[in-house]
Amino acid sequence: MPLTKIVLEESELPSHWYNVIADLPNPPAPYLGPDGQPVTAEQMTQIFAPDLVEQEVSTQRWIEIPQEVREILRLWRPTPLFRAHRLEAALNTPAKIYYKYEGVSPAGSHKPNSAVAQAYYNKIAGIRRLTTETGAGQWGSALSLAGSMFGLEVRVYMVKISYEQKPFRRSMMETWGAEVLASPTTLTHSGRQILSQDPHNPGSLGIAISEAVEEAASRKDTNYTLGSVLNHVLLHQTVIGQEARQQLKKVGDYPDVIFAPCGGGSNVGGMMFPFLADKAAGQAIRLVAVEPTSCPTLTRGHYAYDHGDSAGLTPLMKMYTLGHDFMPPSIHAGGLRYHGDSALVSQLYHEGILEAQAVPQLATFKAGILFSKAEGIIPAPESNHAIQAVIAEAEHCRVTGESKTILFTLSGHGHFDMTAYDKYLSGQLTDQDYPEEALQAALHNLPKWVAK
Ligand SMILES: *Cc1c(COP(=O)(O)O)cnc(C)c1O
Repeated sequence: MPLTKIVLEESELPSHWYNVIADLPNPPAPYLGPDGQPVTAEQMTQIFAPDLVEQEVSTQRWIEIPQEVREILRLWRPTPLFRAHRLEAALNTPAKIYYKYEGVSPAGSHKPNSAVAQAYYNKIAGIRRLTTETGAGQWGSALSLAGSMFGLEVRVYMVKISYEQKPFRRSMMETWGAEVLASPTTLTHSGRQILSQDPHNPGSLGIAISEAVEEAASRKDTNYTLGSVLNHVLLHQTVIGQEARQQLKKVGDYPDVIFAPCGGGSNVGGMMFPFLADKAAGQAIRLVAVEPTSCPTLTRGHYAYDHGDSAGLTPLMKMYTLGHDFMPPSIHAGGLRYHGDSALVSQLYHEGILEAQAVPQLATFKAGILFSKAEGIIPAPESNHAIQAVIAEAEHCRVTGESKTILFTLSGHGHFDMTAYDKYLSGQLTDQDYPEEALQAALHNLPKWVAK
């Protein structure tokens, strides 16, 4: 009987992160400052720890994971790789389906992989406080956990609508000792400006980022942290793909195709980058990022320089974007609502090395429920996007009779997002395509002076 759970020893936890920048066919486009010039390391260290700034632009292929970080990762890593025997049977497919389960971390997602590293580097830089933003609460929880482990104060600007709808995520962050504020707040200039125009603004990730960046920039003892998008975050997530590659090797298998849900791109990069060298060496492997049709950043966005936040405080990054003033449709419950995407993922997609698919939300919840009935785990709504794409691929294999090997990231569990499932089960959700007019309008709001 083939294995159900493929596990590694603690000693097999990767010792290094893999830096894909060393192997890119073309160098990444630089981040640009308000003057249109590339941002300097000096400018970035005003809000980021120096080691993280160094990693952001490093071209070194392997970067050692500090002992202190490995010791904490070892609480839940290596994570298990599952063979989805019961899902395969339910789909009656000849395909082999494997999933890498990141929901075993204390916060319930892959995000602590980077939160622990970011807290560590800030601690050794003498920083006392961290600020950040969170939408559904996954990143805020991860950073609260990591901050508590290194004795750092954490302040989380949580998108107001989620603050109200997901009270237990706030309880988790507070249990780990963090302070959680409903964004927009009256504490920052960015927040006050939004509230003066619209006192009932429900908040967005872009607004919460502006608040967290503004605070970090104004205090010497405080730095800002981001849970996705940036190169160093994707770097920290490469433990996922390195472990998965090793686990598949143990059972003598190799993926024909890998799927991962895509918000800012951190679990896509973390899972897929360690397989890119094989692809470059001629291995036939497809790498597919899956996003919602209501926030179709890669599949329909513009590849251009844009800000990472709504107030325009962050540097400009060349990425696929729906425009930094994007407000997600309120009907969308499945996460993955950021207007932009990792510059590295965007570049690899632009160059045809990664693929992308967009899936409608009703199909993602249907897929997640089918998965939970077969495999037991209730997936995070974000992860359901990948599951929907996996099921479609496995059903295609049933038609063609191909026995493909499919791998995906089960990026988290859904235990603190059951309101999203409630909404689906009670018929409150609908599918929504992102309107073409909004895409065209976003084009007009992109910074015009920067090099295309
Ligand atoms: C945050 C999150 C995502 C999306 O973020 P990426 O940076 O694109 O990985 C996906 N799944 C879960 C469970 C998350 O918490």
